[in-house]
Amino acid sequence: MTTLANIKLRCPCCRKRFRSQMVASTNQVGMATDFMPVTEGFPSIPALVHACPSCGFSGEEDDFSGKQELPEAVKQRVFLELKPHLKGRRVSAPRAYQNAAMILEWRGAPAVTVADGYLKAAWCCRLQCTNDTGRDEEYFLREALERFEHAVASKITSDDVTARTTYLIGEA
Ligand SMILES: [Zn+2]
Repeated sequence: MTTLANIKLRCPCCRKRFRSQMVASTNQVGMATDFMPVTEGFPSIPALVHACPSCGFSGEEDDFSGKQELPEAVKQRVFLELKPHLKGRRVSAPRAYQNAAMILEWRGAPAVTVADGYLKAAWCCRLQCTNDTGRDEEYFLREALERFEHAVASKITSDDVTARTTYLIGEA
């Protein structure tokens, strides 16, 4: 069963501290056809991403560790492109994964890593997490697929990624 614990994080972008919840334990009992982990009780995926309520910076717990300095150009894009969407609301899991994927792309992360972020945003739509993006599962799957295809075309991929891509092409 998935259990959560409260954590305090510090945003590497605006430096504000905020509270979030992390997955303390989870029990994967299977996998959906597109590799989404199926857990007992409520799903762990929406709780594996964190979003700063002040600026919209999003990522996994490690992205808030302060180990890596966020480039100034990326900070500027967060303030210009993500912060305006906040409108005083809590960031939903689909938007947090979308924000995280955008930030990874701005930082020059591999296409597969970015694609995984969009895939998780799609899963959160499927899991009916509150969604403030105005986008649906298909939109995020297309965003993921575009990047998986790019990775496959560049031959910088593994069998696992090729399998995901083949599946998503079949679904699209
Ligand atoms: Zn922030």
